[in-house]
Amino acid sequence: MSVAIMKNTGSGIENDPHFEARCDLAAVFRWTARMDMHEAVVNHFSYAVSDDGSQFLVNPNGRHFSRIRASELLLVDANDDETLSRADAPEPTAWYIHGAMHRNVSHARCILHLHPRYATVLASLADSTLPPIDQNTMRFYGRTVVDDGFDGLGLGDEAERLTRQVQDCPIIIMGNHGVMAVAQNIALAQNIALAFDDLYYFERACENYILALQTGKRLRIATDEVAQKTSEQWQGYVQELADAHLRAYRHRRSGPENV
Ligand SMILES: [Zn+2]
Repeated sequence: MSVAIMKNTGSGIENDPHFEARCDLAAVFRWTARMDMHEAVVNHFSYAVSDDGSQFLVNPNGRHFSRIRASELLLVDANDDETLSRADAPEPTAWYIHGAMHRNVSHARCILHLHPRYATVLASLADSTLPPIDQNTMRFYGRTVVDDGFDGLGLGDEAERLTRQVQDCPIIIMGNHGVMAVAQNIALAQNIALAFDDLYYFERACENYILALQTGKRLRIATDEVAQKTSEQWQGYVQELADAHLRAYRHRRSGPENV
């Protein structure tokens, strides 16, 4: 779901058929950097724009998240084997992971992949499950997949393997690696606002869990019934919250320098 705000910015891309998606994605890149959830100039987000999901937008190689503009997002094709030969080729793991996802998983239309601090700590534990200890962790109760099969950088076979971890959950906890937000189903597949909101809240949930572990005190783990109820309550109005969340970011940085 797009949260259209910007018009007539003078950048020359207002007539781009994917203008709103570009602006949404660029806002998500920049705010991810502001919140220090990025890592150097790697990590990657992509968004499919063709009906079959094969053509997608992705961040340009070497561009810091804080500087990414809507107009410079690359448009690539998951079925184009020559993509890495382009002068403006994406970063290899971005190409392999997102290309494989867009080719192999029908509802993987918006894919947000990061190594944020606390989610990556969780992914580094022998047990990477997230217990329901507060409202944010309960949002993800029964809604995550833990990938235990890490086998190197996201290139070639490892990228293909990752596509087989996608289930009907919005968050994949990538053991030994990081985290990925992918829509839960095809109905939510092109929902940038919801994918980003999930990623944001998941990192916040992991932050609270890791800090709670550091106290050495016993955790206040909710019952399955309370955790399930709270998760369902979140789902009742999370779209409205997610749209407002992304809209706020676009309002904060809506000048022409960002498109
Ligand atoms: Zn990664």
